[in-house]
Amino acid sequence: MSKCCFECGISNTKEISVVYGYAVCNACKPHLGLYKDDTIRKAVKSYARKRELVPENPTYKEDVDYRLKILEERYIKARIKMLHIQARLKELA
Ligand SMILES: [Zn+2]
Repeated sequence: MSKCCFECGISNTKEISVVYGYAVCNACKPHLGLYKDDTIRKAVKSYARKRELVPENPTYKEDVDYRLKILEERYIKARIKMLHIQARLKELA
């Protein structure tokens, strides 16, 4: 199966890696803004400090899980809207 970079469309398989199910080329990968482990550890500690003051606050993991869930819901909602417009355009043409 041939994959091409979701960002730039390059399809040279030597340049492509799969990141969480998405094909990304070596040139585009650095622009994804992926956090280094140190950055993630700092965020974990920062959230833990806030929870010392407000125990109801989420852990970093809980917040990331929540954000992913919201992101997916927004993506699905926007996609349904676009698919509906696309379908209506076919019907109205
Ligand atoms: Zn690319």
